[in-house]
Amino acid sequence: MSIEVKNISKVYNTQLALDKVSFSVKKGEIVGFLGPNGAGKSTMMKILTGYIHASKGEVLVNGLNIITEKSEAQKKIGYLPEHNPLYLEMFVREYLGFNAGIFKISKNEVEKIIEKVGLVSEAHKKISQLSKGYRQRVGLAAALLHNPSVIVLDEPTTGLDPNQLLEIRNLIKEIGKDKTVLFSTHIMQEVEAICDRVILLNKGKIIADENLDSLKGNQEQVIEVEFDFRIEKQFINKIPHLRIANNVYDTTWELIFDTNLDMRSAVFDFANENGLKTLRLNTKNKNLESLFRELTT
Ligand code: ADP
Ligand code: MG
Repeated sequence: MSIEVKNISKVYNTQLALDKVSFSVKKGEIVGFLGPNGAGKSTMMKILTGYIHASKGEVLVNGLNIITEKSEAQKKIGYLPEHNPLYLEMFVREYLGFNAGIFKISKNEVEKIIEKVGLVSEAHKKISQLSKGYRQRVGLAAALLHNPSVIVLDEPTTGLDPNQLLEIRNLIKEIGKDKTVLFSTHIMQEVEAICDRVILLNKGKIIADENLDSLKGNQEQVIEVEFDFRIEKQFINKIPHLRIANNVYDTTWELIFDTNLDMRSAVFDFANENGLKTLRLNTKNKNLESLFRELTT
């Protein structure tokens, strides 16, 4: 395992920011850490990278304990903090060279990273002269300098314009080809564009942890409907995309569809065309997207 988070809780003064959070990330995975503002994403990332201590629990990075083996563990981690702290008065190459000095990394290595993150044309400029997208690249470059195997990015795409967004996404995917990546975001589409897996955090708790394939793939839709009359099963089976119809109670049915299309109107039309009245109709299941939308609106 690249990252193992075991039962992490964090209390700030009296506020519980993380509540028994556990998850692990396998080598080579790209995992999206999704949650609305204030969910605890940054707090988790600061704990994970050894910048603050948890109140309870344990974190291992490549099997190394982030507290008792901190310096060894941190060598394995590249971290881009939320507000990407950069020295604006420094030149790009100078700034990266300064960071490289700390890790005793050669100038040659710095040039390789500059090329990797697409900073060649900007490397001679002052950081203050760069657009937000290029500043993010400088932050990414700094995080990658010591060739860590685990990359932790805190909202790397927030505040970027659509073009920059696309470029940084591609860069993250590229980095993810040979490294483990955990990145946070409060945007669902971000996760779909970049990740293999998503961990959904809300109010300090993990409320979903799923592979994206299973999310995109076998999505099913459950509708509960109550008609004004009893009907036969063969009859209701005429509704398109219907996989299973359960007569849960008298005139109430649970209908399971194997489609992402919203089937509520089809059920309503079915009733209408067959002289039935729909007394009640509601969707029962929640896929990740609707769950997330509910949390954030
Ligand atoms: P996210 O990154 O998901 O937006 P944070 O981890 O920044 O969430 O914050 C989680 C909660 O902890 C928030 O309610 C925030 O106000 C609180 N919090 C974060 N940092 C501190 C701090 N240093 N002191 C007190 N409360 C904090
Ligand atoms: Mg944050």
